[in-house]
Amino acid sequence: MTESQRTVARPLRGLPERGPDWWPIGELGQLGARPRARRLLVLWLAAIALSVATGVLNVAAGWNGVEFELGGLDFAVTIYPPFVVSVLLALWLGPTWGGVPIYLANLASALTSGMPLAMGALFALAGVIETLMLWGSVVALRVDPDLRRPRDLAWFVAAALVAAVTASLAAILWNSSHALDPAAGQRVWRGWVLGDLLQILVVVLPVLRFLGPRVRGWIDRQFLDPPQHEFSYTHGVGMIVAAFGILGLVVFLGVHQALASLEIALDARTASGELLIPRLREIVLVMGLLSTALIVATGMFSTALARLGERQRLEARRDSLTGCLNRRVFAEHFARESERSRRLGLGLAVLFVDLDHFKRVNDAWGHAVGDLALEGAARRIEGALRETDLLFRWGGEEFLVLMPHTDPAEVGPVAERVRAAIAAEPLLLLADIGPVRLTASVGAAIAFRLPGDPEELVARSDAACYRAKQQGRDRVVVAEAPGEGAA
Ligand code: GH3
Ligand code: MG
Ligand code: MG
Repeated sequence: MTESQRTVARPLRGLPERGPDWWPIGELGQLGARPRARRLLVLWLAAIALSVATGVLNVAAGWNGVEFELGGLDFAVTIYPPFVVSVLLALWLGPTWGGVPIYLANLASALTSGMPLAMGALFALAGVIETLMLWGSVVALRVDPDLRRPRDLAWFVAAALVAAVTASLAAILWNSSHALDPAAGQRVWRGWVLGDLLQILVVVLPVLRFLGPRVRGWIDRQFLDPPQHEFSYTHGVGMIVAAFGILGLVVFLGVHQALASLEIALDARTASGELLIPRLREIVLVMGLLSTALIVATGMFSTALARLGERQRLEARRDSLTGCLNRRVFAEHFARESERSRRLGLGLAVLFVDLDHFKRVNDAWGHAVGDLALEGAARRIEGALRETDLLFRWGGEEFLVLMPHTDPAEVGPVAERVRAAIAAEPLLLLADIGPVRLTASVGAAIAFRLPGDPEELVARSDAACYRAKQQGRDRVVVAEAPGEGAA
């Protein structure tokens, strides 16, 4: 036990950064069936309606934003509520939840402004791209959406700046579609970038910081079962490449229209006597081809790299023998789950499972059979857990179960299920050896003051397991929780 405590100490220090949780839009169907969660669905539809309405109103009222002059340049800072709504939804619920409202709002305002449907449908994607870029950066940089630390704030603002500047490139399509002269077009462009940034700083930041924890707690309570998925960097890279491809097309169409609107005389010539129009066409074509080649080549290389990194990361997260999560990623999961359990007002429990007299298995049948027995034990433990519990291989023949949002009354029964699953029937591993009988000692501990200390919680479960060994093995001991009250 003491050795175990010593090795526990190092990897658990310093909680790692973690990004937002998100729910795939597929969960919507599930929500519809759950009376309490229907509220979330209704609110989302209301957010879509609000986004579309304000988007249309903006255009219909012909409002150009807050106008002012600074250093000889005139600005018109656009205030666009659908953008705020979409960023908040993306960060709290997931990218599709935020992408749908901004797409519909942009499409509606484009159509209201008289843009043809096909052009509007393409143009509206720029808003989705901005939201996706911001959300993707927050996930990839592991920014906590509650923005409690300076690093989270700094990364969030940087990501917003990049997303706003990139997505505002779509202004060229808007400007040329509405035949704005260059000065007016530039003003629109500046207004979009500045407007998005100001809305991030003045509205989104404070809302995330001060309302975020409560809103996210409420969302957790509607869904109940938290998602356990990981961000896929391969998908992330694919998304970015697709975004740049679409944006490239939007910009290309905008440039094309802008050139057409110049109404250059068909026989206009350059100073050296060449026809101007074929020359301009050639330049646009070359730039278009170059951008396409760059996007495709960068996309191919980054996807390959991301896939490689992803595989290595996955391999590093899992123990190669049993397929269980390994000890190195425990701190990360502990941080996420303790946060969530705290928001749900429930406890976070840990089971320490140590196989009994495992040395005898190795001594009797050899190490290879011992390995098979470990695999078998892992599958049995897994089968006894709840869907949201996480199984780690802690050491040689020791496993650790992390039980998120757990009521104290559940701990004993789950621990007992784990013990019984291992002891139930002997394992039939190889034809030429007899059945291998295994038992395990299980120590359980639960914490309520969250986010608690992972070391302390694991040490308590380890100590409980030690007591189970002393009391004769093949049993469960649930640790008292001094000072924790509820246990
Ligand atoms: P108890 O826990 O009940 O006190 O007895 P034990 O025999 O299980 O305890 P101990 O911790 O002394 O020994 C654990 C043994 O587990 C030592 C080692 O031979 C075996 N072991 C650890 N890791 C592996 C592994 O990856 N494969 C195999 N085959 N055996 C392993
Ligand atoms: Mg052991
Ligand atoms: Mg053992």
